[in-house]
Amino acid sequence: MREREEIKARLLKGYEELVERMLAEKPADEEILLEEIEGMAVEVGERVKQQVAQALSEEAKRGEALCPVCGERVPVKGYRHKQVVTVAGEIRLRRAYHYCERCQKGFFPPG
Ligand SMILES: [Zn+2]
Repeated sequence: MREREEIKARLLKGYEELVERMLAEKPADEEILLEEIEGMAVEVGERVKQQVAQALSEEAKRGEALCPVCGERVPVKGYRHKQVVTVAGEIRLRRAYHYCERCQKGFFPPG
């Protein structure tokens, strides 16, 4: 539950920053064009998508994973980062790396 609150707080903070920036850059009401309104909505939407994808991928796979060879529960040994392009935009994916002492083998859980 604590993790969930942390993700929520981080997402809301990110959204608040996007809204602040958008409002600061927004042309005056009497000068604004429909295309500009559209452009701002799309841009904020794209960034929100990206932030959601980023936040959820960071939270995923924090705990133990089952060794694919012996089935032992193995803790996280470290993290590797990788840039990936998703339908929600480019995100920096953090993947948990596990090392099974019994099998002397490292692995990334699937997914
Ligand atoms: Zn193993």
